Amino acid sequence: MVADYNQPMQSLWNNADAGRCDNELALRAYGSRLLGGDPSLVLHGGGNTSIKLDENGETVLYVKGTGSNLATVDERAFTPLRVDGVSTLLALPELDNARMMRELDACLKRRPAPRPSIETLLHAGLPYRCVEHTHADAVLAAMNVENMTAVHAEVYGERAPLVPYHHSGHALARACMQVFDTQRTGNTIGLILAFHGVVAFGDSVHASYENMIELVTRAEHYLQARGAWRIPRIPEAEASPIAPDPAVLENVVDAIRATASAPLVLHIDGSPQSLAFTRRADLADITRHGPATPQHAVYTRRVPMIGRKVTTVRDYAARYRHYLDTHLGQRASALMDAAPRIVLDADFGVCAFGASARDAHIAAEMFAHDIAIMTRASAHGHYCSAPPGAIAQAEFEYGGFAAKLARNNE
Ligand SMILES: [Zn+2]
Repeated sequence: MVADYNQPMQSLWNNADAGRCDNELALRAYGSRLLGGDPSLVLHGGGNTSIKLDENGETVLYVKGTGSNLATVDERAFTPLRVDGVSTLLALPELDNARMMRELDACLKRRPAPRPSIETLLHAGLPYRCVEHTHADAVLAAMNVENMTAVHAEVYGERAPLVPYHHSGHALARACMQVFDTQRTGNTIGLILAFHGVVAFGDSVHASYENMIELVTRAEHYLQARGAWRIPRIPEAEASPIAPDPAVLENVVDAIRATASAPLVLHIDGSPQSLAFTRRADLADITRHGPATPQHAVYTRRVPMIGRKVTTVRDYAARYRHYLDTHLGQRASALMDAAPRIVLDADFGVCAFGASARDAHIAAEMFAHDIAIMTRASAHGHYCSAPPGAIAQAEFEYGGFAAKLARNNE
């Protein structure tokens, strides 16, 4: 689906469709599909939702499992867990994610069940029947600026208190609960997660869904009021009459594949929005901070390469290796390559690389969302991203390298 970045958010709730759901979990799945179907809210397996149901006197948390797409979920995509057991894990002062996943397995109410979401503890801790979590572009575009605290106070205040950035899992759930316990008022309907996204909650699927729409709409109104909403496209007159010949990219593509030691696939996004972005005079400055949320770096890396010179690949890889070594240490860094996944070029637009055609397409799509967020954020402030160390940790863990290092250590 081609996202229309200039379209504002609307509630898609339909009472007739909701009425066709014959149980609460089916209704939970319906509300989840409404969120998942909008790429400005969640991308590729991102985002999760939950409902707490009473089963014979016991509260069971149904949270969307990993590996399913929110846009197409049904009841089977939700993992049933005993809330009491999950709450015990949340109460621990520290818990690494690998152990958390093993402990969560022991909290399963029934098997087989999908692997629980990494954010299960957050869903369990919030005292509402329904919880929704997305990575809404508009919220990131409003918040990812140097004066985030002031913008947050103006847009949300106590309606959705601000949670500082923490790695997903136990640490983030603990931080959310700390903020919730100390800052929630009767007016609170969610939480804003710095450099990550937004959480909304409510006592019914419908209320919780509408709360998510409200939080996203507040960010959109803020951006619109500052002339920071519309994403520029190149005027037709500036588009070259003949598409540039991809053959001129051959040398740089070879250099990137050699640096990655992998047969990476190239996907070119030469849309008017991508071309407008890659022709910005401040391109190097705006893209040096990192993606809108660290998770994107698994596909896009922390920063893109600018221009298509072969020598730039060498410079990029040296700088990237230094970043990985600094934040992850050399043993972890050695498991990863230092080649770019996104190359920005004024003639071609966004050139995205991935291990497969699908991965290259995902990288391009994630970067298209980063373009929307960076463009809007810099139209009302100075764009910024999570600290480099947090982004390196996300690349390492979500990219599967942490599990690989653990296997090597066995
Ligand atoms: Zn998330």
